[in-house]
Amino acid sequence: MATLPLHFVLVPLLAQGHVIPMMDMARLIAGRGSARVTVVLTPVHATRSRAVLDHAKRAGLAVDFAVLQFPGPALGLPEGCESHDMIREYSHFKLFCDAMSLLAEPLEAYLRALPRRPDCIVADSCSPYPADVARRLGIPRLVFHGPSAFFVLAVHNLAKNGVYDSVADDFEPFEVPDFPVHAVVNRATSLGFFQTPGLERHRRDILDAEATADGLVLNTCAAFEGSFVERYGEALGKKVWAIGPLCLLDSDAETTAVRGNPAAVDASLVVSWLDARPAQSVLYVSFGSVVHLFPPQVAELAAGLEASNRPFVWVAKEADGLDSGFDARVEGRGLVIRGWAPQMTILSHPSVGGFLTHCGWNSALESLSHGVPLLTWPMFADQFLTEMLVVDVLGAGVRSGVKVPFTYVVRNPEMSKVQVGREEVERGVAALMDEGMAIRARAKELAVKAKEAMAEDGSSDSDLTSVVRYVAELVQRDKDVVEVLEAPDLGSGNKKTADRSG
Ligand code: UDP
Repeated sequence: MATLPLHFVLVPLLAQGHVIPMMDMARLIAGRGSARVTVVLTPVHATRSRAVLDHAKRAGLAVDFAVLQFPGPALGLPEGCESHDMIREYSHFKLFCDAMSLLAEPLEAYLRALPRRPDCIVADSCSPYPADVARRLGIPRLVFHGPSAFFVLAVHNLAKNGVYDSVADDFEPFEVPDFPVHAVVNRATSLGFFQTPGLERHRRDILDAEATADGLVLNTCAAFEGSFVERYGEALGKKVWAIGPLCLLDSDAETTAVRGNPAAVDASLVVSWLDARPAQSVLYVSFGSVVHLFPPQVAELAAGLEASNRPFVWVAKEADGLDSGFDARVEGRGLVIRGWAPQMTILSHPSVGGFLTHCGWNSALESLSHGVPLLTWPMFADQFLTEMLVVDVLGAGVRSGVKVPFTYVVRNPEMSKVQVGREEVERGVAALMDEGMAIRARAKELAVKAKEAMAEDGSSDSDLTSVVRYVAELVQRDKDVVEVLEAPDLGSGNKKTADRSG
């Protein structure tokens, strides 16, 4: 076995929904006691994640940041635009991906300057630039998938079988081939990430980085997605570990309140507000860190919530579309948070009984991990497949009725900006909060299973042990090879090129 502690370097995609779970993973790995972890961030993300880091250090965990300057401005991005949620112009998306790739050079320089070569790089699947760096330095590398196993397996099978190319239009229904469940989707709602023109090289890099990885890590658990995880490993011929839901790492008031950005409201005020409401009575409404609804849609959502006669907490970063009298009309019943909300604090509160969500995978996991059923309102990317997983496979949600991805609405000026009308909102809220006994019970069951998975010797805990052991074995194997090659009778010409001795 290799000499411990192992040093893991984690490289997230620069987006809230990817940095947050990687910060969880960092603490989880470091919590093994036999490993230390460095998370590679840029200044904006380091500032956002500082409170979590400080907390980890106070808890005695060996976690730290390596902060690299983001080269966005050199490519024409505004100064400080270092995260997906900060991109305001469509054309900046490609620039952002290009800027991420430019981080390869400073990452390599940073790693080379370390006194000892790290033992493993874990890079987000959407952030493929560390692959070549790891290869050049001879460092084992794992890929972390942010979305569900359901999504990554569906996209893999659809692409492999050429289904995307064989359909006449984006809304023609087809079945996902070789899938553990019967799933009918269309091209518009099932495409993988980075499908816009101009990102072909980035997409290729992502596939190459995954194909050459030493293994894959997913933020899910066997009880939620065991068959999908297993089939994904088989499809790729690789080791795949399910080590989530990572969000369950934080359970106390101090840590749940500081995930991601500093909250726009004091978490204790939100807790007091929730304390004053009956158990499971409150609907939580949020569309994640990236999506901004169009003002007419905001108005319909507001009218639907108002008519629902239910208490709600609405994270309305799109508050521009709210009429000025809204807060007054719902006073005492609705709490509107303008800006970043302490989402985990809210979802873990017993008064919360439902979550109207865009179906970001982190939001879905955070909700189900706390037994809160979902009213699903997917927007784009993996979110429609997450909706299908939550509603049709896990039985823990109801649909609000969105059929067309937000990206189509954005691109097509003729299309209505309202995807879910006020009556549909009202109907959906009633279906979830008043009639959804079975899905509520199911969500509670899943929460128990999620907690069991993350508890000592649970499936996710065992998978994490297996990841650490596997990395230790890879390191030891490399060491043995170097020793054999350096043995005097083999001569000096056989030395391994990548120096792993540090
Ligand atoms: N989040 C939060 N407060 C907010 C908005 C988002 O804490 O006001 C967190 C949320 O808990 C989750 C992440 O940001 O951990 C969003 O990730 P998700 O995959 O749900 O959606 P995305 O933002 O990537 O679309």
